[in-house]
Amino acid sequence: MTGTEEARRTELAERLEAVRARIAAACGEAGRSPAEVALTVVTKTFPASDVRLLAGLGVHDVGENRHQEAEAKAVACADLGLRWHFIGSLQSNKAVAVTAYAGVVESVDRLKLVSPLSRGVHERGRVLDCLVQVSLDAPGQGRGRAGAEPGDVPALADALAEAEGVRLRGVMAVAPRDEEPAAAFERLARVAARMRADHPDAAWISAGMSGDLEAAVAAGATHVRTGSAVLGARPPVQ
Ligand SMILES: *Cc1c(COP(=O)(O)O)cnc(C)c1O
Repeated sequence: MTGTEEARRTELAERLEAVRARIAAACGEAGRSPAEVALTVVTKTFPASDVRLLAGLGVHDVGENRHQEAEAKAVACADLGLRWHFIGSLQSNKAVAVTAYAGVVESVDRLKLVSPLSRGVHERGRVLDCLVQVSLDAPGQGRGRAGAEPGDVPALADALAEAEGVRLRGVMAVAPRDEEPAAAFERLARVAARMRADHPDAAWISAGMSGDLEAAVAAGATHVRTGSAVLGARPPVQ
């Protein structure tokens, strides 16, 4: 390892440790066990070399939000046994291709995606965990954050539950910018409870990012997705 790589490894190790400590502290506050909350490190915009260092530090789940970038990193890191979470908005014509590397698609937000995802995993003889991305924007206040309206979630969940090769696992959401995350995550918890009533195995709640993971853990998140808290500020989008 070069000196630069060594320094980056130390930096990532320290930041990762700090995020794990934040999750543990939030679990303590909420009377939950840290074993109930899994960490996905969002590596978007960062190079495959960082993914490799993270794998060496015990990270197993990584998240990406753009297909081409995700695919290239998944190929470059194919030897690491990672589970790739697709967390970005997904065009239906890319859905089949995403199933080549994704273990989880967290951003299923419309019925049109279900059949290509199912077809993709079926062709490859794989299984895909899927979450329904839920919009937490106030009704009529769509600010461009993706996600299904809460009222559309049950039909989407049913479609995923019935599709071959696809496992409905639960819900995912991003807190709106203009609201206390705690209130938004409470709404998500209600959507999740309703889904679980129909589909008892769909118990994942993916919520919380670098800035609001404590509020998400307090509201019952089982998966948090942190990028910048582990990897540092993202380079500006080109
Ligand atoms: C980028 C991203 C994250 C991570 O955000 P940070 O604030 O860097 O932790 C989490 N979830 C989604 C859907 C993202 O696009």
